[in-house]
Amino acid sequence: MSTPTPYTTTNAGIPVESDAHSLTVGSDGPVLLQDHYLIEKMAQFNRERVPERVVHAKGSGAYGTFEVINDLSQYTKADLFQPGKRTEMLARFSTVAGEMGSPDTWRDPRGFALKFYTELGNYDLVGNNTPVFFVRDAIKFQDFIRSQKRRPDNGLRDNDMQWDFWTLSPESAHMVTWLMGDRGIPKSYRHMNGYGSHTYMWVNGGGEKFWVKYHFKTDQGVDFLTQADADALAGEDADLHRRDLYGSIARGEYPSWTLKVQIMPFDDAADYRFNPFDLTKVWPHGDYPLIELGRMTLNRNPEDYFVHIEQAAFEPNNMVPGIGPSPDKMLLGRLFSYADTHRYRIGPNYAQLPPNRPHVPVHSYAKDGPMRYEPARVARPYAPNSYGGPAADIDRFGEPAGWETAGNMVREPYKLHREDDDWGQAGTQVRDVLDDAARARLVTNVSGHLKNGVSAPVLQRALQYWRNIDKEIGDRIANAVNGG
Ligand code: NDP
Repeated sequence: MSTPTPYTTTNAGIPVESDAHSLTVGSDGPVLLQDHYLIEKMAQFNRERVPERVVHAKGSGAYGTFEVINDLSQYTKADLFQPGKRTEMLARFSTVAGEMGSPDTWRDPRGFALKFYTELGNYDLVGNNTPVFFVRDAIKFQDFIRSQKRRPDNGLRDNDMQWDFWTLSPESAHMVTWLMGDRGIPKSYRHMNGYGSHTYMWVNGGGEKFWVKYHFKTDQGVDFLTQADADALAGEDADLHRRDLYGSIARGEYPSWTLKVQIMPFDDAADYRFNPFDLTKVWPHGDYPLIELGRMTLNRNPEDYFVHIEQAAFEPNNMVPGIGPSPDKMLLGRLFSYADTHRYRIGPNYAQLPPNRPHVPVHSYAKDGPMRYEPARVARPYAPNSYGGPAADIDRFGEPAGWETAGNMVREPYKLHREDDDWGQAGTQVRDVLDDAARARLVTNVSGHLKNGVSAPVLQRALQYWRNIDKEIGDRIANAVNGG
């Protein structure tokens, strides 16, 4: 027996008289203001969008599970990383500079944002498919992003702006080398690694502190698209990577990533050869090897894209006991910025929305505000109170994870460590990590980009920038630009 088709209602559940005809006086008469249903439809439509994210606007995501496969409890007491633990999670992957409808295959870093619904609240690890970033101080982030977006006068993206900023910000060299290489256009979201990128702090049950970096290695294998293939695909299917992720999960081919971590003893940081908190640097694996910790598997598509992915709000400030920040200036800036943008974009009560709700009871004193639908969780909205209100319990959950510091207020760069410079690790990547074919593609990618709308002075700086990374690759790029 087939289920009868449901009857249309207004948002208030009242049966509607027609799906096709507005209320008029006579069949060609004026439309009546009292046609509340017509007005409701038009008004609802006009409000269907929330502002798209200023960065990472085009994304895709899915729910899944994280399971621990190795015992690293000696380094952190975080509940999601304890042996045998399984934790529900949400992942959102994205491009960075393009708008919501932009092609998935444009060259760009990819966001790799994770939310773990732990027993002590949400842990958000908001990283990229790169272990490093273009700048190392949050005060430059807005400038960097604007240089990658559209020009104010003509509304066009502009290679000249990009190279202008990069060449005036040499700390970008390592990330630009990454971006312009094969990893700059992943074959799909399933075929890229994710990195926490920043250095974080871990604290174990005894209060001992460590520095940690996260690497999610794709179990599907790293794979990429050439510039030519990506350009063609951008025209054929702008949503290629969204389609791929959704389709593979719908078919039951669940993508997974193995989480490995690098752990640095707390006291190593001061004298390490690189500043371990500089987001433009990696910790070479030879210094701090990767240690396996767990596996995340994405196995459930969102039932509604807008509700679960567009409204997903990841925020690096969501750190649970056993995990804390490091003195990374980009990270410290992000601890403010993410929650701030969510309040603007999806409203101050965004934590109530389905993807953002913790899976444990919330005992916060928050109340009221736009779109509040959960009643206040406390009988009296102030602390302390004598009506059973929640009370913070530092003895149970421990001191905040942190480090000792002192000094005058200054605006200064990081203290340089022995081997800190802006070109070294980028050069290592070109010389020691890429093979001949990958180096040849790097030359093609960079020269193709530089030949497209970059002004003469910026071009000269860009060629010098590449020679600073590696003399030979710089010369090859110069030849390709001048000869082609
Ligand atoms: P390793 O030889 O131990 O590691 C090199 C890393 O480079 C591997 O992890 C590999 O990632 C990654 N890689 C391979 N191909 C590419 C590519 N086309 N573009 C970017 N990365 C690629 O060396 P070190 O740890 O001593 O680091 C040397 C250089 O490698 C660094 O300067 C950095 O540029 C790059 N790198 C280092 C990482 C780190 O955390 N130490 C992480 C990633 C890159 P995979 O195994 O996932 O294929």
